This record gives sequence, structure tokens and C-alpha cells, in this order.
Amino acid sequence: MTIRLAVVALAALLAAPLTAQQPEAVSLIINNGIVITVDGNRRILNPGAVAINGANIVAVDTPAAIAARYKAAETIDATGKVVMPGLINTHTHAAMVMFRGLGNDLNLMDWLQKYIFPAEAKTVSPEFVRVGTRLALLEMIESGTTTFADMYYFEEEVARVTKAAGMRGVLGQTVIEFPVPDAKTPADALARTEAFAKEFDHDELITPSIAPHSVYTLDAKTLTAVSALARKLMIPIQIHLAETQAEIGLSQKRHQMRPVAILESLNFWAPTTLAAHGVWITDDEVALLKRRDVGVSNNPESNMKLSSGTAPVMKYRTEGVNVGIGTDGAASNNDLDMFEAMRQAAFQQKLVTMDPTAITAAEALEMGTLGGARALGRGQRLGSLEPGKLADVIVVGMSRPRQQPLFDPVAQIVYASRGDDVETTIVNGKVLMRDRKVLTLDSARVISEARKAADLVRKAVQ
Ligand SMILES: [Zn+2]
Repeated sequence: MTIRLAVVALAALLAAPLTAQQPEAVSLIINNGIVITVDGNRRILNPGAVAINGANIVAVDTPAAIAARYKAAETIDATGKVVMPGLINTHTHAAMVMFRGLGNDLNLMDWLQKYIFPAEAKTVSPEFVRVGTRLALLEMIESGTTTFADMYYFEEEVARVTKAAGMRGVLGQTVIEFPVPDAKTPADALARTEAFAKEFDHDELITPSIAPHSVYTLDAKTLTAVSALARKLMIPIQIHLAETQAEIGLSQKRHQMRPVAILESLNFWAPTTLAAHGVWITDDEVALLKRRDVGVSNNPESNMKLSSGTAPVMKYRTEGVNVGIGTDGAASNNDLDMFEAMRQAAFQQKLVTMDPTAITAAEALEMGTLGGARALGRGQRLGSLEPGKLADVIVVGMSRPRQQPLFDPVAQIVYASRGDDVETTIVNGKVLMRDRKVLTLDSARVISEARKAADLVRKAVQ
């Protein structure tokens, strides 16, 4: 055989599988569901299928089209169920599930100063944070959250248990001016942040972040140092911003400026900054947050429970500010169910604007998914079901009495479904919960350890 002939034969051999239209091997297909994509056209495929390979979504199409092009190692049948992007909780303090139900029915400052800060001073340790975060992870995985933005202490411990559970997190190491369990001074907290960021640099699941508590618990010098460190390490900042009217007064007293103004004067904003709450914000401040590309986490349940106020969500949206939804810590909510948070995010705006068209079910769902991804600077890779995005997907059962009849899947998800309806939770292409069984955490053990650790909290508040 001449060389030329050999080359022709080899080329024919290589081309053969293509001409025969062999299906491409992928790791997972979620088949025959009602697929709510939250893509650019807000497509809903009924029925639809999602092909996943490794950590990525490779195709979203009809079941027939997916079956023709892909062959999966594993298939999940989603007949009659909703398949949608995993929910993104843009503001929480995961380990604070350990303080759930403690000091209810108080305003923020009383609740923080009389209950939370003293209880934390006596209880928070690396072990306590691990136990609490595992309990929160269990609750989040069971209720369809696939990414959470956290602000707490010993954040490297939060990161380790989050990664072990297969969950995605933007995890913020707290910086606050008074001595706390993981840092005697803000300088200690900055050093801790640097070590934490180094440990999880370029991690697939963990995005290290820095979390200056607020403008009322930090001086200008520390806020500037936080911003400089965030830029140096290229990590996102998370800060409580304009949460209560009292905060505005405290900021005026301490900095002679409103919260947004003091941060602007310090050139505080990092490439990704997430403002939690953003309730007491003027129109000019909304425009400024837009100019600085600051994302906002709206926390309707926490804001209502603590009577903090209502964030100007409609204004943020018309001005083009990226808005996500958060539960806040379980101590002020009192759960981490993002379905309920989406529902309240819609209802609260309808009530405060006296306009039932304010925040539709589709808009609430968008804020709970893609909006949150964008607010966290991750809109390119998270928040919708599209080829090229990371495979963070949930399958939601639709067979409960309260979900019948099914005319409008989006309305049914936002207005009638609950976290408990989630059957399967997938993060980064990995199944973390299947048919309500969490595979990456030992549920019974997580709950018994949390109950044991609650004794520490009981003693601390006696
Ligand atoms: Zn908070």
C-alpha cells in the first residue's frame, strides 16, 4: 500500500463514526421533564431534556433531539417533573442555623446585640462552624439550593465542609472591628482571609470572598484595607449595606455620610461587590450602585421579620442593577428555603407598590437563579440551563395536591412549590441528592451532631 493510499484509508476509518452518526457519550441525561431554562428567550421545553457531561451542560433540547445526539452513562427520568437551574442563595450565614429560633420578634440591633453577638462569642469554634454548616448544607441541598453566598467566621472550615458535600459557595470571611472567635482584630481577619483565599485558589466549587460586616461595625481605615485586599486577591466583597434605618443614622454619626456615600468616598468597590439587603437606598444611590456594578441581594423574609424595611427592587431592576434573592441566616428567617424566599420577594413588592404586576413569577424565578448568578459576578457560568454553563440543576416533583392542576409551571414553582418538593439536586454535574436521599452527607449524623452542639448555645444564653 502506498503512503497515499494508507492515508486515504485512515481518513475513511476516522470519518466512519461521524458518517454513521454515532451518539456522543455524555455522563448524564435528565430526560422528559418540563424544562424551565431561564435562558435568553426564557424557553420552557415541555417535554425537554438536558445533557450533561462532567461538570458542564452540553445541550438542552427535546427528548428526541437529545436521544439522537447523545448516549448517557446515566439517565434520570423526569417525566411530569420540573427541571430547572439550581437556586442561588445570595445571602446567608450558614452556620447560624445553630441559632435558629433564638431571640425572635426583635429589631435587628436588639437581636444582634442582646442575643446573637454574645451567643456567638461563647459558642463559635471551628467544630461548631463545621457542625452548623453541615446542617445548613443538608437543608440547602434538600431544598434545591446549588450555590450559596456566605458571610461568617472560620470561613475555611465552611469551605472544607461545603466542598466535601459537593456544594458550590461564594464564601466570605468576616471582618468586624470587635474581637470575634476567629480574629482578635480586623488585621487578624485580613490575614485569615489571605490564607483562606490561597487554600481555595481556583477551586471548582469554592470562591473565597471577603465579608466586611457593615459600615457601622468598621472604620474607614479597615474598609479601605478590605477593598485593597479584595483587589489584590481578585476576590468578591460581600457587605451588609443599608439594611435598616438605624444603620443610616449610625453611618451618619460615625462617618458623617450615608452608607453608600462613605464606601464611594473610599473607592471601596471591588470588581465584584455584593451588597446584602440594600433597603434604605435613595434613587441616586441606586444609580451609583449601577455605575459601580454592585450586585444586590434582596432578603424579603429577613427584612420583614426584623421590620427592617423593603428594598427598592423595582427601582434596581429598571436601572439595571443585578438583583438576587437571599434567605439571610436562619436565625432571622427562620429557614433556608429559597422557594419561599422567591415567593415572598414577589409578594412583598406587590404589596409595597400596590401593583400586582410588580415582580411576576417569572421575574422572581429569574432573581432566584440567573439574577443571583449575575449579582455574584457568575452570570456567564451559572443561573440558567444552557450549553456551556455549569451543570447546577434541580428536579422538582409536581405531584403534590397543592401543585394541581398544572397550567403554568413557572407560577407553580414560585407560588405553590416548596423546597421539600425538590427530588434531585445536581451541582457541577454531580448528583448530591437523588429521590430525596442526600448522598454526600450522612443526614442522621448531621442532625444528631447539631442537636448535641445546641447545648452550647443553650448554656451561652442562660
Ligand atoms: Zn446577613
